[in-house]
Formats: sequence, structure tokens, C-alpha cells
Amino acid sequence: METERLYFTDPYLRSFQARVVARGELGGRPAVLLDRSAFYPEGGGQPADTGILGGVPVLDVQVNESGEVWHALEETLTGDAVEGTLDWDRRFDHMQQHHGQHLLSAAFESLYGLPTVSFHLGAESATIDLAAGDITEEQRRSAEDLANRIIWEDHPVIARFVAPSELAKIPLRKAPVVDGAVRVVSAGDFDHSACGGTHPRSTGAVGLLHVRRTERRGGESRVEFVCGGRALRDLRFLNALVTGISNSLSIGANELDATVARLRESEDRARKRVQTLVEELSGYEADQLVANAPLSSGTPIVRRTYTDRTLGDLRYLAAAIAVRGGVALLALSGEKAQLVLARPAESSIDCGKLLKEALSTFGGKGGGQPAIAQGGLPDGAWLDAALDLTLQKLRSDPLLRSA
Ligand SMILES: [Zn+2]
Repeated sequence: METERLYFTDPYLRSFQARVVARGELGGRPAVLLDRSAFYPEGGGQPADTGILGGVPVLDVQVNESGEVWHALEETLTGDAVEGTLDWDRRFDHMQQHHGQHLLSAAFESLYGLPTVSFHLGAESATIDLAAGDITEEQRRSAEDLANRIIWEDHPVIARFVAPSELAKIPLRKAPVVDGAVRVVSAGDFDHSACGGTHPRSTGAVGLLHVRRTERRGGESRVEFVCGGRALRDLRFLNALVTGISNSLSIGANELDATVARLRESEDRARKRVQTLVEELSGYEADQLVANAPLSSGTPIVRRTYTDRTLGDLRYLAAAIAVRGGVALLALSGEKAQLVLARPAESSIDCGKLLKEALSTFGGKGGGQPAIAQGGLPDGAWLDAALDLTLQKLRSDPLLRSA
């Protein structure tokens, strides 16, 4: 039996009395079919209402082809005469976003002839997809301005069923997808759309419409927007963010752009300076390490493990040791260990091959050039054993001796 949909005539109805006419299941939940309901069933891009039915939470609402509105419930509902109450904050939020969508779609259509091909109302924001390859900044701004003008002019919003014979007289933005009487939602004279969704009494209830961003998707453009309470939340969030960053930098919000650009430049300069210093320091450090390293076949071998350096630092140091005629076997210890092996130009050991062989014994990987290579161990606990084995392979390699 078809359910009488109370929201068609009164979208502001928050609670109602109804009779359970059938019981079943929806999405794995116990569900009931009512003779009448103010709950909006998911459709047309608008999510389903939630709320309470006979004391039991309503989790989902769906309508089938016969016009039966089924309510999925958290638990089984007893009794046939029930009172339903909507989660009104959620419903009103959906009304603001959905009506805002009609106005924004109508604005893009009337200003630029860009039709809306789809609408999605998500938990955070809503989107429309326009049949347009690109939206310019000016188009986005103008459509947003026009939608807000219609909101602030507070036009009455009227939803009514129109007979097919009368339909031809109404300049519909979107052709109906159903046969027979069609529900038309009109926002003053600005927009007339075939729609089964819930809408406020007047455009002013949308409050404010803000386009967050536009993004090209293939041959279409996606426009993300927020209305009413969501626009206020966005504003609060952004204001707190900007104020927090400005305060931490002790500047005004209007100086943020320039300050961030300056900070990035100075960070860039500092990074290059650190780089230069690391290279210089590596030279001094390498002098010391090579001078004090034990010799093997006449070649100094430096073995060191560090915890507070980067792999980049280690590569510099290893290269500096190699330039000074030493072999460098350097490691970073930690949960996962990393190793660098380098040899002087006079030696012909293949560091990449040797390190790869040694690390594979411990489930590690390595590789690189004959003169300098690096590798890693998935388990840092094996680092000392891996260094021992690498050293052993180095010492027994006849190519270690300088040519
Ligand atoms: Zn609609």
C-alpha cells in the first residue's frame, strides 16, 4: 500500500501519528511500512531522514517502486499505532543544502547556460556536476552572487503537484523523470524544477551559500558548496584557523600571504646553508675518522653507528671518508636500520654487490653504485650482526687493497 508522504504538503512537520501496515527487513535491519510518514526516503541526491519511531531509532528510510515508504529500525518495534519524530536539525540542514542547490544550479543555468547533470548531498558538503569543461573564477563568483541575491530577496518557495496538461506552461529547468502528475518546486519566478525533495518555505531560510571550490572532472566541472549552518561552521573554522596562525606569527591576518612567502624563502636559504655546513663538517670529521681507523690490507676502514643523523648526512660523510682514501661503513640504528658503504676511487670493490649480499642474510635489501651504496634492514636488532658480516666480507675481498 502506498504511503502518504506528509512532507510533500508540510516539510516543517516534525512529528506525526501513523499506523504500521507491514513489517519486514531493510538493509539487514527490522523495518516497518507506515500508512503515512513525515520521514523523507533517500532520493534525488538528498539523504534519508533519521529520528525516532515508537521509541526506536530510525536508521534509514527507503521508498520502493510501489510508493511504500519503509523505515529501517535499530530494533524491532512493537505496537501498531506509533508516533514518529524527525531528527529536525538533520532534516533542516538537508533542506538548506538542497534548496541552495536548486538556486546555484539555476544561477549557472540562467547566467551561462550550464546545466547541472548531478547533485550529491554529503555529510560535510554538497556538490553539483555541471556540463562544462571549465568554470572560470568570474563565473563561480557571479553564480554565487546571484544565488545569494535570490536567498536574501526571500522569495516564497512553493511545491505542488502539476497535471501533465498544465506542465507545458511552466518553464521547467529540469525535465521530470516521472509520468503523470509532477511535483514542481518553485523559488519565486527564479526557478521551477521537478523535484520530490524537501524545501524551506522561502529562499531566505538557506541563509548563505558559499562555493568552496570547483574542480574539473573529465568533461564536467564539480562545484562544492555549503549553505546555512554549514556555511557558518566553515566561517568559524576558517576564522579560528587564520586567527590562530596570525597570532602565532604575531601578525595581522592580511599579512599572512606575504609572511608565509617570506618564511618559505628564509627556510629555503637556511636549508641550503645547513647543507653547506654539513658538507664542510663532514670533511673535518672524515679527517679524524680516517686518521684513527684501523687498517685492513693497508686501507683505513671506518665503522660507525649513529642515531641522530639523516641518511643524507651519512652519505656526505661516507663520500668524504672515501675521498680521503678510507672505506666507510656507516649505519643509522633504529627500528629499521639503514647502512651506507663507500670506498676510495683507487679500490675496485663493488659496494652495491657486497652490501646487497651481506644484508640479504638478514632479510635486508641494498644496492647502488660500485663506489657508494646504501641499504636497509627491516629489523634494526640485526644491525650489529649485519655490520660484522659486511666488515668480514670487506676484509676478505682481494679487491680491497688499493691498486
Ligand atoms: Zn530538488
